[in-house]
Amino acid sequence: MRAKLVAANWKMNGSFESNRRWLSQFDAAALGCEVVVCAPCVYLAQIAEALRGTSMSAGAQNLSAEAPGAFTGEVAAEMLIDCGIRWVIVGHSERRTRHGESSGMVAAKAARAVAHGLRPIVCVGETLNEREQGRTLAVIGAQLAPVLDACAAGELVAGAIAYEPVWAIGTGKTATPEQAQEVHAAIRSLLSRHDPGAASRTRIVYGGSVTPSNASALFAQSDIDGGLIGGASLSPSDFLSICRSADRIEH
Ligand code: PEP
Repeated sequence: MRAKLVAANWKMNGSFESNRRWLSQFDAAALGCEVVVCAPCVYLAQIAEALRGTSMSAGAQNLSAEAPGAFTGEVAAEMLIDCGIRWVIVGHSERRTRHGESSGMVAAKAARAVAHGLRPIVCVGETLNEREQGRTLAVIGAQLAPVLDACAAGELVAGAIAYEPVWAIGTGKTATPEQAQEVHAAIRSLLSRHDPGAASRTRIVYGGSVTPSNASALFAQSDIDGGLIGGASLSPSDFLSICRSADRIEH
């Protein structure tokens, strides 16, 4: 059985004060799922310190593929580890489309994360145009191929793969549970071609306008092992309700 994973992606939101408020209002004590809070990098030390000794973990939203050195504005894996961070989102669609990250760059980042003991949440997903052209599974396969060249499938088991259809992110349009399950099953079967044991243990989470009202139906699908939650994670009560939905479901 795979333990459910629910990760908050706060994107470029927060302040020391609002983070403190969120943390004081979110009570993970009774939760059975694994919870990760991915905050902007300037707040990582604050979040890691606040979550020390709790069942939750702090995560970053990006990392550099490079070793420390002359890379202005970048943050190295070693620095995240130094801040007490154990998780990192890699290849979010906002980074792919707005910051020009290719699947090759995403693979290099995933490999660097794994090499330094960070648990990557590797994001993949198709655009609306690609879905309408019937290319969803081909696109996902092409995004994952370089990752699986750069990392052994077994190295991804500690992290997760996030299926995030681009057309569902921040739009209020969610993939139906059946649409999401079809892609999750395809991702698991792709992993299985590399390492069947690892494929059955890897968490594949769904992201894209998950809310308290649609989370249960999504998480009930047999290959959906939790969620990566953007907008709804900014509200501690909505995020808690989504985590509780994950807790209620066992595969
Ligand atoms: C995300 O940013 O990873 C995400 C899934 O956003 P939202 O939940 O707002 O669609």
